Amino acid sequence: MSDHFLVVIPAGPDEDLPETAESIRETLVGMTGGDESRVKDYGKLQFIDAGENFERVACPGCRDEIPINTWQGWMESDWHGEEGFHLHEHEMPCCGRATTLNELVYHFPQGFARWFVSARNANRGPLTPDEIAQLEQIAGLKLRAIAQIY
Ligand SMILES: [Zn+2]
Repeated sequence: MSDHFLVVIPAGPDEDLPETAESIRETLVGMTGGDESRVKDYGKLQFIDAGENFERVACPGCRDEIPINTWQGWMESDWHGEEGFHLHEHEMPCCGRATTLNELVYHFPQGFARWFVSARNANRGPLTPDEIAQLEQIAGLKLRAIAQIY
């Protein structure tokens, strides 16, 4: 059986962990009913992926799908070891638009962040826009919600 987690990261990749992280965690647990949750602060930029929910990635300009090996090459060039990721601009092969990896359209959503808050999800769907708005209010930040399957 796979493990499902609902995760939130800041929409702005440079945002530090807010002081309200613990309240975000508690509220997320209330929404998921999960028995396992955590606040993780990496202190550097990491890729917060969707696990088995990673299906494809597309250009935010023209929505063309990006070949996965092209994306992997960008991931390698943006990875700076001990420092984590640096988000450089890459030229999209489809339309030439300069875009960072965080701005790509991931299906399902994923992103880059210095921290995340997650809770195990037993049997519900992704966070609704209203729930995300509620968590954003606690965080004082725009958030990106990720549904992870491992
Ligand atoms: Zn494009």
